[in-house]
Amino acid sequence: MPEVAFPWHDTVWTQLTEQAQHAHAYLFSGLPGVGKRRFADAFAAFLLCTSPSHGMGCGRCRSCLLREAGNHPDLMLIRPEEEGKAIRVDAIRQLVDFLGQTAQQGGSKVIVLHPAEAMNQNAANALLKSLEEPTADTYLLLVTDQPGRLLATVRSRCRIQRLPTPSHDAALAWLANTVPELDNAQRLNLLQMAGGAPLRAAALHELDAVQLRERVVGNIKALLKDKQSASQVAESWSKIPLDVLIDWFCSWTLDLLKLQTGAIQHAANSDMDVVLGYMAKHVSAQQLMEWQDWLLAHRSMTLGKANLNRGLFLESLLLEWKQLLKKR
Ligand SMILES: [Zn+2]
Repeated sequence: MPEVAFPWHDTVWTQLTEQAQHAHAYLFSGLPGVGKRRFADAFAAFLLCTSPSHGMGCGRCRSCLLREAGNHPDLMLIRPEEEGKAIRVDAIRQLVDFLGQTAQQGGSKVIVLHPAEAMNQNAANALLKSLEEPTADTYLLLVTDQPGRLLATVRSRCRIQRLPTPSHDAALAWLANTVPELDNAQRLNLLQMAGGAPLRAAALHELDAVQLRERVVGNIKALLKDKQSASQVAESWSKIPLDVLIDWFCSWTLDLLKLQTGAIQHAANSDMDVVLGYMAKHVSAQQLMEWQDWLLAHRSMTLGKANLNRGLFLESLLLEWKQLLKKR
């Protein structure tokens, strides 16, 4: 069976596959966890298939069978050697060699590069040359959550296709199918943590994020009551992905700002309502803005794959957070 893209991508999928001619390079963007990479993989399957039917790869031709076996000579997947690391210029040199070869199956050649923002400067510059001089019947599919981190010259040579976030109902319906073992309240909780992106919600479930979160909230309370030190808490979080932790702090900060201006009466993060309510009363608007700047700057450093000492970073994050209540 061909891969099926997600129902919330149907409109984009139809528009794209019905085009008589395809662009040489696409940039698929959208929130983390809306299914961009699966979309790009399905589109690669469609482009490689020798007899697509109903706008999908047929799943039966030699090309589809080779691809499903992970063995298609005209499909190249580029990603960092290690998760969270950069895509280096060596990988792009292999891509350039690949572009120079004749398609072995006599059809198209397709490259899927993900996450595109992981390309370092040299890699991006090397890619630029290939984008400027397209080869016939080759397609470059770049996937990114952060198009703003790509070189403007790379972006401008791609057709940018934003993939939408599903409606709340569509996301919940998909989650109900994907994680039937959870109840509706748990799925809602995960979806909220994931900013509405269903694949991210499912990934958070895999991480056991609900339990992790309970622990983290417990640690925060202990920290504010001087029952645990920042370094103890940072140490106990050593297995929790940094992006998940930073997301939570960003979401709590947003609640704090809204509580303080009176835009909301209760935190959207109900498990932190008491803590955030107390903090909102004791922290000045100025402090909150400074804290937010600090948090966003560090978030951007971690997204930018900067080399950060994780333990030290978390410790200073916790100290800054705690200081909010003391600076006044
Ligand atoms: Zn096929």
